[in-house]
Amino acid sequence: MCQHQPHCPPHEAADHDAARTVACHPEQGWSLLCNGVVVFEDTGELLPDGGIVVPHRPTDLPVR
Ligand SMILES: [Zn+2]
Repeated sequence: MCQHQPHCPPHEAADHDAARTVACHPEQGWSLLCNGVVVFEDTGELLPDGGIVVPHRPTDLPVR
């Protein structure tokens, strides 16, 4: 299903964030990656197998 070269990392890969963005909805605060992962603007992620990744926003930046 991935048409990119090189192929995007699968959602189960540790670097799945590196997949290409195929749909971006900043007004709704999420984007869909080529490997099916939905990334939210708070850096939380929803995996296509139903798993979630809690927000992992860098903590070394000042909180606004
Ligand atoms: Zn791809």
